[in-house]
Amino acid sequence: MAYSHLLIAIDLTDDCHRVLDKASKLCQALSAQATLVHVVEPLTMAFGGDVPMDLSLLQQQQTEQAQEKLNILAEQHQLLKENNCHLCFGQPRKEIHQLATEHNCDLIIVGSHGRHGLALLLGSTTNDLLSGAPCDVLAVDLKDHDTDE
Ligand code: AMP
Repeated sequence: MAYSHLLIAIDLTDDCHRVLDKASKLCQALSAQATLVHVVEPLTMAFGGDVPMDLSLLQQQQTEQAQEKLNILAEQHQLLKENNCHLCFGQPRKEIHQLATEHNCDLIIVGSHGRHGLALLLGSTTNDLLSGAPCDVLAVDLKDHDTDE
């Protein structure tokens, strides 16, 4: 069974070039449609809840920079189409699942560092995404490309 609509989730780090590269080739091979997504997480979440200062300006700047970077990356990897780059705000798992459902995507593509042990306990978006995913999930192996391993 072929896939017809890929949802490519990227974190905008250097690693995402590898995810985009694989996704772009797969997209061409399958003549599939591609949608890209990056989820901006609320700064208050990163700081763990109550923060005694106004983070709205910082959050706005972060969002604008993320949108710009998302479009540049999509163009670099020849994946940019009209309205196919989505910037969401919230919790990555929830937002990515929701977008996949809304756009009838049949494959979500993410990167995976293959974390285990303590590192996994500290959180892996890929593992989180697998649970309750509305379609198949493909994890691109990023291990060889980690500089700290
Ligand atoms: P992590 O487990 O945080 O290292 O992330 C693994 C993969 O999940 C990344 O390579 C991306 O494909 C995806 N991902 C992580 N964070 C985000 C995000 N904020 N928005 C979209 N995708 C993300």
